[in-house]
Amino acid sequence: MTAVSVSKDAAPTSEDLVVLSKVNKHFGALHVLQDIDLTIGRGEVVVVIGPSGSGKSTLCRTINRLETIDDGAITIDGLPLPQEGKELARLRADVGMVFQSFNLFAHKTVLQNVMLGQVKVRKAEKGAAEEKARQLLDRVGVGSQADKYPAQLSGGQQQRVAIARALAMDPKVMLFDEPTSALDPEMINEVLEVMQQLAQEGMTMVVVTHEMGFARSAANRVVFMADGRIVEEATPDKFFSAPRSDRAKDFLSKIL
Ligand code: ADP
Ligand code: MG
Repeated sequence: MTAVSVSKDAAPTSEDLVVLSKVNKHFGALHVLQDIDLTIGRGEVVVVIGPSGSGKSTLCRTINRLETIDDGAITIDGLPLPQEGKELARLRADVGMVFQSFNLFAHKTVLQNVMLGQVKVRKAEKGAAEEKARQLLDRVGVGSQADKYPAQLSGGQQQRVAIARALAMDPKVMLFDEPTSALDPEMINEVLEVMQQLAQEGMTMVVVTHEMGFARSAANRVVFMADGRIVEEATPDKFFSAPRSDRAKDFLSKIL
């Protein structure tokens, strides 16, 4: 695991994989992201927490340009996020995303779901894409489900397929937006375990979650958001034992 860069003011280095500088975003009159400065180091695991509506999903969606920003800048591995075109598709492929709602293609098999992006975006040859898909499905523990359709799988299995599909693109960073929030309780751990494993293997990860156990054990840093701002960032130990802001104290008193 590489060094964690927490300072907001430090000049970007090659260790910085994702850099957001003074990012602002409005939805009409709503100022949903306000002067967001956030640097994510290579191999770093950042857990983003905060009340509902604080802008966590929007933050994730700006990082792979599912949402545009009004001003500020986002770079991924030193390259500015382009507005559109082929370059955007390529850069977006470097950012894996896993959503609360799995978002698998319902009319494709599990195997096809994990092959598709490799063939279409990464231009992989079919045989190679299939071999890689099978390896990844094994790795997340659903290798035996390869020929089924998503609806035939449990929620936990579907989410693990979604993780395998994202990994198939060889992303530089993985974004997880409340990946376990739609799951029945008994399936949460099987997904968190896969994420924990990825973190240990050195994947750079941004994880929006309410799973504080995961935050404590896997995160290098906790970022606490409220009302479109980053209110506080700290190591999990510091954040959970001694939150500084009233907003964070209030939030933690409700969820812990
Ligand atoms: P969180 O993920 O922290 O719950 P979101 O990023 O989803 O927060 O939303 C932040 C705020 O932006 C909320 O008030 C939400 O209603 C609003 N919002 C999110 N997406 C849109 C959109 N596409 N259009 C208008 N408002 C939106
Ligand atoms: Mg959200």
